[in-house]
Amino acid sequence: MPNDVDGALSALRGRVDTLNLELLALISQRAHVAREIHGLKVASGRPVHDPEREHQMIERLVAENPGPFPAGVVAQLFGELFAATKSLMEGEERLRLRVARAPGEPDRLVRVGPEAVGREPILIAGPCSVENAFQIDQTAAFLASRGVRFLRGGAFKPRTSPYDFQGLGAEGLELLGAAAKRHGLRSVTEVVDTRHVEIVCRHADVLQVGARNMQNFELLKEVGRASRPVLLKRGPAATLHELLHAAEYIAAQGNGQILLCERGIRSFDNQTRNTLDISAVALLRRATALPVLVDPSHAAGRKDILAPLARAALAAGAQGILLEVHPCPAAARSDAQQQLDFGEFDRFQAEVFGPRVEARPAAEVRS
Ligand code: PEP
Ligand code: MN
Repeated sequence: MPNDVDGALSALRGRVDTLNLELLALISQRAHVAREIHGLKVASGRPVHDPEREHQMIERLVAENPGPFPAGVVAQLFGELFAATKSLMEGEERLRLRVARAPGEPDRLVRVGPEAVGREPILIAGPCSVENAFQIDQTAAFLASRGVRFLRGGAFKPRTSPYDFQGLGAEGLELLGAAAKRHGLRSVTEVVDTRHVEIVCRHADVLQVGARNMQNFELLKEVGRASRPVLLKRGPAATLHELLHAAEYIAAQGNGQILLCERGIRSFDNQTRNTLDISAVALLRRATALPVLVDPSHAAGRKDILAPLARAALAAGAQGILLEVHPCPAAARSDAQQQLDFGEFDRFQAEVFGPRVEARPAAEVRS
């Protein structure tokens, strides 16, 4: 008799084990189907959570409940299953950043007025700081004559020493905006403070968040609410994970118009100001579909290797170069040692872009 019981028990346990595995396979299968539904909803912009539908499903299960579980238990069991599925979807959602390149996603284009960044390599050039009307206007005129379409210039300068030139502030913004307008260029300038976002938007086409502010999260949120593209520079000691998450702060506020910029990271060799991280370019190009730019000026901190660095950046997939150019670098009020004068710029442009590639009429270059 005991042997019969043992035999029956083990047969029944075997059935329970099999049923457990079948249930597990079924709930896993169910999760896959739920994920497909979730994907369709996200892609079509529909709300992902539908409490009404959950309610209907529970009602139907309770109505068709064959027993022996009472209705309340059936409702509770399936309620748990629905909740687990919902948190699974939410977890996956959190892992997929807005700034990440979706599988098979083509490069994203960032529009700056009539210009599109993300196709042919662009060049953003201009002085480190806007210093006076003559300096910025002369630079804008020169760059426009060379086919450059983006003018940079700092009005609010993040300086290591509080005693160094801090930029002309609002006056600098006006000078930059006027020079860009006069010569048909798009302007790029740094914003260092949440309180300045509005005024910078009034004068500039692109808001730059500098390396030192890459993880100034309140500033990132504020530029994320602005209606201007943002050029986000990598912090001198920031990982790519941190850079992408900084960009996500901007995107999460609704501003997906982001340009990422590698500008050198801090390392041990003092022959350059920073070390240009070329692998960052290749890795970012994979991780995100946003345009990736390279600033060899702040990476090198010297003039003599800017062309090879820019060429390496473009070869690695960079979609643009940011370069400091000044009519008289020796007299510059910031970053004098790394800014190119106009003659040096001409040689740089020829070496990096070939004979006058950037000088094609803008309409030809644009799509
Ligand atoms: C700049 O581009 O003017 C600048 C200050 O660069 P970074 O933030 O990369 O140091
Ligand atoms: Mn500079």
